[in-house]
Amino acid sequence: MNTNNTLKEQAYDVIVIGGGPAGSTVATLVAEQGYRVLLLERDSNPRFKVGESLIPASYWTFERLGMLEKLEASHFPKKYSVQFYSQSGKASAPFYFYENDPHESSMTWQVLRSEFDDMLLENALEKGVEVQRGVGVHSVLFEKDRAVGVRTRSPNAGSVDLPAKVIADSTGQSALISRRLKINDTEPELRKASIYTHFEGGIRDEGIDEGATLILHTENKDSWFWYIPLPYNRVSVGVVGSIDYLLQDRRSDGAQLDAEAIFKAELEKCPALKWRIDNAKQLFPVKTTKDFSYRAQQIAGNGWVLVGDAFGFLDPVYSTGLFLALKSGEMAADAINGALESGDLSGERLGQFGTEFVKGMESFRKLVYAFYTKEFSFAKFLKQFPECQQGIVDILSGNVFTKDVDKIFTPMAQMCPLPEEITL
Ligand SMILES: Cc1cc2nc3c(=O)[nH]c(=O)nc-3n(C[C@H](O)[C@H](O)[C@H](O)COP(=O)(O)OP(=O)(O)OC[C@H]3O[C@@H](n4cnc5c(N)ncnc54)[C@H](O)[C@@H]3O)c2cc1C
Repeated sequence: MNTNNTLKEQAYDVIVIGGGPAGSTVATLVAEQGYRVLLLERDSNPRFKVGESLIPASYWTFERLGMLEKLEASHFPKKYSVQFYSQSGKASAPFYFYENDPHESSMTWQVLRSEFDDMLLENALEKGVEVQRGVGVHSVLFEKDRAVGVRTRSPNAGSVDLPAKVIADSTGQSALISRRLKINDTEPELRKASIYTHFEGGIRDEGIDEGATLILHTENKDSWFWYIPLPYNRVSVGVVGSIDYLLQDRRSDGAQLDAEAIFKAELEKCPALKWRIDNAKQLFPVKTTKDFSYRAQQIAGNGWVLVGDAFGFLDPVYSTGLFLALKSGEMAADAINGALESGDLSGERLGQFGTEFVKGMESFRKLVYAFYTKEFSFAKFLKQFPECQQGIVDILSGNVFTKDVDKIFTPMAQMCPLPEEITL
């Protein structure tokens, strides 16, 4: 077995697996307390990732991380609102995040993930995290039911076993621990696929709306598009639909359409979007991903914690993935710091944040179910219940960890079926 000398014989308090937003956050906030933290990221270099639109409540995690000034100084477009288009092409009024709450946290950014993830990793390094790029984790090492370390795998250094008191799994959709333990649940209603790419030169709205996320239904509401303005005059455009609908056999002669053709066919069904990119240049062949929604049955165990997508992912429609990755990174860091201080590294202690975190996720989940109900629209809902406007803006902004945030779901349940709450 080869060994990696830079990694050998180190005793870490925490090993964080994965250098996405969740991993950088948990690593930074634990290292800042003086603990020894190693973060292992399998990719040697920053790369393209989907998931480019933030929501405003991320502000508070950025503040703790010391990232606000860096984001302010960045070239990422500012996002003040999200706007929904119905299947007939009619636009809702934009939901401005600053409505009734004109604080600087009521604005956020649209990010190019290769640059954004790298900024967070650099920040982690500055705050004392030992960052190793190009080192993948092959497996988490367990003694009985307690995680005690990781086995790494890297092209040059081979395999090394590294002990640590706590392992934070932030491997995104790889979900190293929960897949190994087979504790992931999926929901049939959220079995979706997505096809996406970037365009240069797409037409944006003007002024304060220039950086807005647009969510546009296609005719028949079988699928929807996102339109996310990015730096370098780019826009990110992607379509989402059920796996059965989007990737089904679509030709009368029985042959399968390729993803590029499916993307174009869906675009034809979305004139409210198509005109914006008619003369824009597609920058790379479309990418496809599917079956991205799941949730683990537990958020921590003895010596381990799940953070970000490694715990679960809901749905792309309200751009909540990055916020939940950052927020769970923050909550997990507080739990880990408390556990290290007390010497109690049990799953119960490490997972103390789980109940609150999942309750917040549930508000997004209910709104996701409403979005996929064909008869439901925000315009119809707010016409009938105008007093719910602020409640919707709150959830779209990410203010889901506050009391009474779920008040809107009583009237909403009169218009569409909402799912039973999941608890941990
Ligand atoms: C179609 C689609 C559209 C989306 N759009 C949005 C959006 O607009 N806004 C939004 O907020 N979210 C969006 N998301 C979700 C968002 O992309 C994720 O929620 C977010 O990236 C989660 O961050 P993370 O840090 O948990 O995981 P990731 O960003 O996936 O990071 C995980 C990291 O772990 C590394 N890794 C994996 N396995 C290993 C291993 N074994 N060893 C070492 N390293 C490893 C990976 O290389 C990666 O860098 C979207 C998701 C999908 C599927």
